[in-house]
Amino acid sequence: MGTKSPMDVLVIGAGPSGLSIAAALGQENLEVGLLSLHDPSEPWPYTYGIWGEEVDELGVENLLNHRWSNTVSFLGKGSTDKNSLHNQPIQHNRDYGLFDKKKLQEYWLNQCKEASIHFYRGKAENFEINSKNSTVTTTDGDRIVSKLIVDASGYDPVFLNIPNNGDIAVQTCYGIVGEFSEPPVDKGQFVLMDYRCNHLNKNEKLDPPTFLYAMDMGNGKFFLEETSLGLAPPVEIETLKTRLKSRLKHRNIEILKVEHEEHGIFLPMNIPIPDLNQSILGFGGAAGMVHPASGYLVGGLLRRAPSLAKAIAKAIKDKSKTPSEIAKIGWETLWPKELRRKQALYQFGLEKLMRFQEGQLRYFFKSFFGLSNNQWYKFLTNTLTLKELVNAMWTMFQRAPINVKWGLMEMKGRELKLLWKFLKPSV
Ligand SMILES: Cc1cc2nc3c(=O)[nH]c(=O)nc-3n(C[C@H](O)[C@H](O)[C@H](O)COP(=O)(O)OP(=O)(O)OC[C@H]3O[C@@H](n4cnc5c(N)ncnc54)[C@H](O)[C@@H]3O)c2cc1C
Repeated sequence: MGTKSPMDVLVIGAGPSGLSIAAALGQENLEVGLLSLHDPSEPWPYTYGIWGEEVDELGVENLLNHRWSNTVSFLGKGSTDKNSLHNQPIQHNRDYGLFDKKKLQEYWLNQCKEASIHFYRGKAENFEINSKNSTVTTTDGDRIVSKLIVDASGYDPVFLNIPNNGDIAVQTCYGIVGEFSEPPVDKGQFVLMDYRCNHLNKNEKLDPPTFLYAMDMGNGKFFLEETSLGLAPPVEIETLKTRLKSRLKHRNIEILKVEHEEHGIFLPMNIPIPDLNQSILGFGGAAGMVHPASGYLVGGLLRRAPSLAKAIAKAIKDKSKTPSEIAKIGWETLWPKELRRKQALYQFGLEKLMRFQEGQLRYFFKSFFGLSNNQWYKFLTNTLTLKELVNAMWTMFQRAPINVKWGLMEMKGRELKLLWKFLKPSV
């Protein structure tokens, strides 16, 4: 490949974050390169879920391959009596969807192609920055010169400097798509969280709590996933697998056919916001954009890429700006003070949940889904203003039962530090 002539922006990584920001920068008529380890059209490994209203507002509802209106959670402890209150679902009264991963990838790839983005293959290894340009060197010795580098290389970014704030909370999941002797969820139903736990013995209940995320995929197939919230250390995959099996056994449901197994999935939830004074910019999983409460990212990418690209384009068009100055403008747009304060609050909340035992968690989520429908939806999609977020959390605290209130008030570990960040987010 040799040395490439200077371009405006080089994006590293071809996951959802890399493609989304490259596409948005291309739409701003910038000259953009995208460096990735693999073919950018290689299928993505994960399944991406999103609330219906988000895709509708973003005008990308055609990118879903499944959409459910019957969306529920089970927050009782479960009972052998089907009619018991402990078995009754709460209705979410909101649509939820799954992206068609291929369509989502093509959506961004087509925008990249239309904007004549240059695709490079290679592994970014080093970078250097001077007052005019940034240069990335790959392990093969190729050099790519651009005004700005955007690191979108995922949770363990190749170049970005991420502060060490202690343990990273990791969500783990074990899932299967398959056929079962009886429908494990109602026809046409999506279950966000099934926290029923009467299939577990007393000791297991005290272990890190896990829940079932499940959905009817149509044609007699169902997707069931035993999942933990973000925890440190993470719940072992074998534990999740055993729990899913005992959950089914308890309900006399046999697995008839496994079509696909999602095994060994790890999702870091509370990656700190990167150092905002660095001269390269980040985007996506690399830049702390995963929602600490839900682990979701795609809605945020779709919402935030266009405004970030606009700010970068404006800065780059000013020829007097150095790469560091352009990166600074990028960071200010991506992580303004209000968003940083909200992030600290979300991370504080996650820290609390990491300590809650099964009973507390079920009551916590009952209080959470007792907020107005709009409030909890906007909480989960990070679309509340700071004031609204504080208000939602306060309302929830007031309505929570005493065991949850006590857990929320008792300060442990780094919780005070996170509250301090909420009050005084560092630059
Ligand atoms: C199990 C799981 C379930 C999830 N479910 C959802 C969901 O339902 N909804 C949702 O919105 N989000 C979900 N997420 C979160 C998020 O959407 C994904 O993790 C997403 O894949 C992160 O995208 P990314 O582009 O930031 O990182 P990645 O997908 O990890 O992409 C990083 C890219 O950078 C490349 N790269 C890395 N190093 C280099 C290098 N040195 N040089 C060149 N290229 C490099 C990699 O090859 C890759 O292409 C989920 C995540 C996980 C793990």
